Amino acid sequence: MSDRDGLIWLDGEMVDWREAKTHVLTHTLHYGMGVFEGVRAYEAEQGTAIFRLEAHTDRLFNSAKIMNMPMPFSKEELNEAQRAAVRENDLKSAYIRPMVFYGSEGMGLRADNLKAHVVVAAWEWGAYMGEENLKKGIKIATSSFTRHHVNVTMTKAKSNGSYMNSMLALQEAVSHGCDEALLLDTEGYVSEGSGENFFMVRDGVIYTPELTAALDGITRKTIMQLAKDAGYEVREKRITRDEVYIADEAFFTGTAAEVTPIRELDNRTIGQGSRGPVTEMLQTKYFDVVHGRSEAHLDWLTPVA
Ligand code: PMP
Repeated sequence: MSDRDGLIWLDGEMVDWREAKTHVLTHTLHYGMGVFEGVRAYEAEQGTAIFRLEAHTDRLFNSAKIMNMPMPFSKEELNEAQRAAVRENDLKSAYIRPMVFYGSEGMGLRADNLKAHVVVAAWEWGAYMGEENLKKGIKIATSSFTRHHVNVTMTKAKSNGSYMNSMLALQEAVSHGCDEALLLDTEGYVSEGSGENFFMVRDGVIYTPELTAALDGITRKTIMQLAKDAGYEVREKRITRDEVYIADEAFFTGTAAEVTPIRELDNRTIGQGSRGPVTEMLQTKYFDVVHGRSEAHLDWLTPVA
């Protein structure tokens, strides 16, 4: 990823992609204390636009607050940095990665002599689970790894270190021939995927886990709104794995994964074993909104130009 042409925003300046470097004694590299975002820009009817930029930037600031990291830039500066990272790399659509990390000013865990640094990179990244899987759905397995506990790493922050758990779960699922993992919380209830929120549909009602052990996903919020706009009831509740086995439909949501249908969990076919009608309707609405094809929610798009 590091060897390509382009520009990366680093601490307030655009630097050459290959020169956007940090020292091996970078604190965050050693202990994982950092926070980040995953944002997407789409080629919309109105030109390239970032989807729900302000919500992502707000979550980045909340993540930093939870982790007690100082934020050296304002929200306006970081919004502008994200727009510039897409625009100045001439990207029509992009995945944008802002990250706040501690530098190499010291190594102690007190972190009292450290500076927080901010980077924003943007590059082209297609469907996270593959174009084909957006239609046919993915095969997933309940993970042997438990999702984070609110009193261990906390769960409202999108923090670098918490993705060790995600990687362990995903690699396990892939080694078992699956596309993604479904992680349960410390009490055994469904939490989320390694990088996605979970939804299921049963008897025309849409369910999603409460936000105790899952990230407060922006796509989750978007889908809940679009479902309500379409007249569906959305209930947040504790969900068990066996409820998922007998659901009519299930799907994951995330900035990277967008709306990805789930066709199988633990070798049990979910519903018809393909993208269900409610999933398809929400997926279509989601893609219409992010591409500016829908009159509703145009305020969720921030043009980069
Ligand atoms: N859960 C986890 C663990 C994630 O990494 C992500 C991706 N940020 C999500 C859920 C979905 O969040 P969002 O819709 O804001 O991308």
